[in-house]
Amino acid sequence: MTDKVKIQDLVFKKYLTQSQIQKQIEVLADRIAVDYKDKDPVFIVVLNGAYMFASDLLKATALDAPMTFVKISSYVGTESTGNVKVIMDCTLDIKDKDVILVEDIVDTGRTLHHYQEVLSHRSCRSIAIASLLVKPNKLEFPLKIEYRGFDIEDDFVVGYGLDYNEYGRMYADIYQLFEEE
Ligand code: 5GP
Repeated sequence: MTDKVKIQDLVFKKYLTQSQIQKQIEVLADRIAVDYKDKDPVFIVVLNGAYMFASDLLKATALDAPMTFVKISSYVGTESTGNVKVIMDCTLDIKDKDVILVEDIVDTGRTLHHYQEVLSHRSCRSIAIASLLVKPNKLEFPLKIEYRGFDIEDDFVVGYGLDYNEYGRMYADIYQLFEEE
């Protein structure tokens, strides 16, 4: 399998391998399993990109906890926009629950900062964030990310659930933008 893939008009090169990703998920899952052993966790997964991460993370924690999904949009193409829209909200009652927000990637932090604020009015006991990827140089909003898989460079990435205009999600590895054709 080649180290480069073409998705629409862009070429991406392999950046994080499946094995690196899975090892790091084990590390995060072990920490979450210990930290939430005596709590009442609910996983709230931010669609679409985080579905693969969430699935592998939950299996690796072996916690028998509810998992539900929300859809929040702030991205068009390869750029974050200023508008955050909750397209599909959490319908579970999270009163007194320990929420773990599961995200594929934190870029400016706008999306989760906004949604944490929405959830904070629902009487949950705690809210923590688990993000597979973080772009630390791009963070603009104050955000505590308790469980972070990899700090990465600023470039746009795809694969392992993450898309470019809805394509490229199926790769088990993560690819970084290489060049525009
Ligand atoms: P933020 O609100 O933190 O600026 O952006 C977070 C959202 O933007 C993520 O949930 C993800 O959907 C999208 N995003 C940010 N950076 C990337 C990236 O490099 N690749 C992809 N595919 N999506 C990204």
